[in-house]
Amino acid sequence: MAIIDCDVHQGNGTASILAGDDSVFTFSIHGAKNFPFRKEASDLDMELPDGTGDDAYLEALERGLAETLDRSRPDFAVYLAGADPWMDDRLGRLAVTKRGLQERDRQVLETLKREGIPVAVAMAGGYGRVIADTVDIHFQTVKTAVELFR
Ligand SMILES: [Zn+2]
Repeated sequence: MAIIDCDVHQGNGTASILAGDDSVFTFSIHGAKNFPFRKEASDLDMELPDGTGDDAYLEALERGLAETLDRSRPDFAVYLAGADPWMDDRLGRLAVTKRGLQERDRQVLETLKREGIPVAVAMAGGYGRVIADTVDIHFQTVKTAVELFR
C-alpha cells in the first residue's frame, strides 16, 4: 500500500506511525519551511521552497509519484488531497493555482488508474481566507475523481 500525501504540511504523523512498517510506503510532498518544523522521515519526502508555482510543483509531483510506484508497487493507495498548497492559503506558503491543483489531482488519479491501483481519496488541510475557495478546491478533487472513475 502507498500513501500519497499532497497536503502542504509534511505527513509527519503518518511517517512516524508507519516508520517500521514495510507494507506501507509513505510519500509526502510539502513545503520545506512549513509546519512541522522538525520533520519526520517518510519513505519519500519532496520538500518545496516557499513560493513554488504550478510547473515546479507538478514536475516534483510527477517524479515523486513515479518513484513511489516504482519502489512500492502498491496494491492500494490513499491520496490525501490537501487544498493548502494553494497560492492564497493562509498557511500554505506555496503559489499553486486552482488549475494547478486540479492538474495535480488528475496527475495522481490518472496515474493510479493507468496502473490499475485502487485509490481512496481523503480531504486534507485547507485554510483559504474565503472558505468558498477551500471548498472549490476540495470539490474539484471530488469532481476529477468521479469523472475519471465513473
Ligand atoms: Zn496542511
